[in-house]
Amino acid sequence: MKRNIVYVTVDSIRADHIGYAGYDEPTTPNIDELAAEGTTYSRTIANGIPTYYSFKSLLGGVRSLSHGRDIGLPRDATSLAETFDRAGYETAGFNAGNPWLTRNYGYHRGFDTFRDFMTDESDEPGVSGDTFEQLKQFCKNAVDGSDWLTDKLGFAGRLFCAINGHIPLETAETVTERATDWLARTDTDQPFFLWIHYMDPHYPWVPPSEYLTPFGDDDISTYDIGRLWHLVAHLHEDDATDVADRDLEKIRTLYDAEIRRTDTAIGRVVNELKRQGVYDETVISIVGDHGTELYDHGGFSHGPRTLFDEIVDVPLVFKGPEIPATEYDAAQLVDVPPTLASKAGLSQEAVAAFEGDDLFERRPNGVTTEVVYDYDPALEKNRDNGLLQARTRWPWKLVRNLETDETQLYHLESDPREHDEVSEAHPETVRELDAELDESRRAVARRNETLAEKRWVRERLATLRDESVV
Ligand SMILES: [Zn+2]
Repeated sequence: MKRNIVYVTVDSIRADHIGYAGYDEPTTPNIDELAAEGTTYSRTIANGIPTYYSFKSLLGGVRSLSHGRDIGLPRDATSLAETFDRAGYETAGFNAGNPWLTRNYGYHRGFDTFRDFMTDESDEPGVSGDTFEQLKQFCKNAVDGSDWLTDKLGFAGRLFCAINGHIPLETAETVTERATDWLARTDTDQPFFLWIHYMDPHYPWVPPSEYLTPFGDDDISTYDIGRLWHLVAHLHEDDATDVADRDLEKIRTLYDAEIRRTDTAIGRVVNELKRQGVYDETVISIVGDHGTELYDHGGFSHGPRTLFDEIVDVPLVFKGPEIPATEYDAAQLVDVPPTLASKAGLSQEAVAAFEGDDLFERRPNGVTTEVVYDYDPALEKNRDNGLLQARTRWPWKLVRNLETDETQLYHLESDPREHDEVSEAHPETVRELDAELDESRRAVARRNETLAEKRWVRERLATLRDESVV
């Protein structure tokens, strides 16, 4: 029997800000409820960051660089949506305006219904996004050459947007309404695959006040929200500025409120599944594409300049029929598509076509994260820059930069915030993890060769069958 799939991906959500993972603020009551009935992992590591590398795993089913350095859904990979489409599913995808997950980058492939809120002409115009873009353009034209004026106008623009609730992305409420409308219209006798991508925990953090209330921090005004938006925008680029402790507290609360807002939206999706009478037969998965820095190491970025845990460690939940209520140790994002295909009840062949493994059959002993660390995809330049790689194998993490030859080792158990670099004290561990990084690349290449050979044999046999030779 084929199961429905509801696949919720959340941008910039850190594992250490999630209730079920031990966070002491009330960010995720709905996710926690699903987690209590389902399977979670104490560590889930992204194989690539940021969005444009991570989603090669989450929807493409391949590692960040195993199919080349280009961003977007690799042409020669079968995406998760295509897999469900071929298996007879009704497929729909709703992306809250993340520009890397649009049809420009091939992410519409396999979806019968696809809304990226950017390139879809049939959508009502994104009023908030347009306002912001127009303001930005106005500032650019008006003040070209003056940093002081750019700064002042940028501040004024952000303040205007914060006070009026305009943000350059679709909110959880809008995306959820579209997705639940689709669910209400869809013939639930057919199995369906629904993907929703939420952007709210992604900077800028401009939560409505109702989502601040659970955190008891009611003195964050809209002026503050605009001011902190501006501050974070600056520190995104420049790590040298000091941030006052109270401001940092407010920034963390704003971030938590955006997680709470997303969690509330997820609760609405769950309610709609229950209303339709399909909740019990649906596999729900919630996962982050990467985390985000909250000044842990002096910035507010999410890569790909560093691979600290605040960026690579994300939540992952599976809930549904035949999924045990338990917590396992390790998972990686490239394993999510085959796990979903398997839990949906698709063929072994469909599951095996992905680069990763079904997490209920096999969990990774160590995870490799790889990014081209200074590649600007917007400009499509710096293609030749070196790799930044990390090998996470509890309790160790090795980070190496192939361009500068720098290596860093952290002991995650005794130093979870990764502030003590200990490679000199543990040369043997450095050598081991170094070798594992090289071997993991070779193993992926071997696996992909085998997959390509199998595909070739299958296609050749199909042709011969068509020609009635066999
Ligand atoms: Zn992202």
